[in-house]
Amino acid sequence: MLNKNLKDFNSLKLEYSCDSFYEINDFEDIYHLSVKIREENKKFWILGEGTNVVIVDDLKGIVVKNNLSGISIDKNSVEAASGENWDYLVKVCLKEKLYGFENLSGIPGSVGACPVQNIGAYGVEVSNFIEYIETINLIDGNIEVFNAHECKFGYRESIFKKLPNHFITKIKFSLSTIFKPNLSYESLPEKMEINSAEELRKIILNIRENRLINPEQEPNVGSFFKNPVVSKIQMENLLADHPDLKFYFVKEDQYKISAAWLIEKIKMKGYQGKDCGVSKKHSLVLVNFSKKSENLINLSKKIKDVIRKKFNIELEYEPTFIS
Ligand SMILES: Cc1cc2nc3c(=O)[nH]c(=O)nc-3n(C[C@H](O)[C@H](O)[C@H](O)COP(=O)(O)OP(=O)(O)OC[C@H]3O[C@@H](n4cnc5c(N)ncnc54)[C@H](O)[C@@H]3O)c2cc1C
Repeated sequence: MLNKNLKDFNSLKLEYSCDSFYEINDFEDIYHLSVKIREENKKFWILGEGTNVVIVDDLKGIVVKNNLSGISIDKNSVEAASGENWDYLVKVCLKEKLYGFENLSGIPGSVGACPVQNIGAYGVEVSNFIEYIETINLIDGNIEVFNAHECKFGYRESIFKKLPNHFITKIKFSLSTIFKPNLSYESLPEKMEINSAEELRKIILNIRENRLINPEQEPNVGSFFKNPVVSKIQMENLLADHPDLKFYFVKEDQYKISAAWLIEKIKMKGYQGKDCGVSKKHSLVLVNFSKKSENLINLSKKIKDVIRKKFNIELEYEPTFIS
């Protein structure tokens, strides 16, 4: 389809257009697309549900919308097509008495995007369960399979952020047949007795509903910034100046500083910009009320500038910017 408005395909509800919009429903579509990309030498962008992208401008090329579907289960192994909805997969796994995904309940988006930024919530990351990922390089049409080690997973990071030509087609996960709640995260009720995975899922969904903002009401992409990771010395220096600093130990000489705390400290929680702002409910969430992303991006730059000056910390964006 030509010249499509992308408003309904991104959770910031940005109204940019693309030259061409190509939906992938099966492998034949991928094959044809790959030929088209080669023959026409076109630029392209892969889109799942658009809940983690900031579109910067009209897109002069092809937007590739993924609708691949199918989930198959064999003992504790789950193979899911990349166009499936992530939370639907979580529900299916729970129904099949396969455990591990509970803390990742309610994260918006598609299965195919889950490894790209290694989605995580409440002390759990999806990389803990990934066996392998199948991709097709849309430039040369070759299939490439990455095992978990080759994905180079990190905090909101993976190799796929550096391989934008690789279309993830399916993912194989390995789950547990035994339910063992992970209550390590601070806002989970560690002492509370959790009797079932369904109960834990309900608790997670409740917390999310209270803390996060529904993009249908206030368009957003969830956390706009990653929590910065600093060395022990940097953390101690910060702590000397700010005894109330909120931080978490990651591993030797790595400490995660709460980006939400930094934004609260510069008094920008609830800040109202032009047609955008910082949520009153959650300081990491920027909300957008414009058809264009310019004001939102300027606001994000302002936040980064103030934090750089005050704390000497460079905040990194969590969503992918596409232009
Ligand atoms: C309200 C809200 C809450 C959120 N909470 C969390 C949270 O708790 N934890 C968390 O980690 N994230 C969270 N997010 C971010 C988002 O849900 C995840 O990043 C999700 O994985 C994005 O999925 P998507 O299908 O919408 O990806 P998109 O936004 O469509 O794409 C994101 C990136 O992945 C790439 N991509 C998508 N599909 C494919 C594919 N098949 N092959 C190759 N590349 C692909 C895109 O090119 C793009 O670079 C939240 C977002 C919102 C709006």
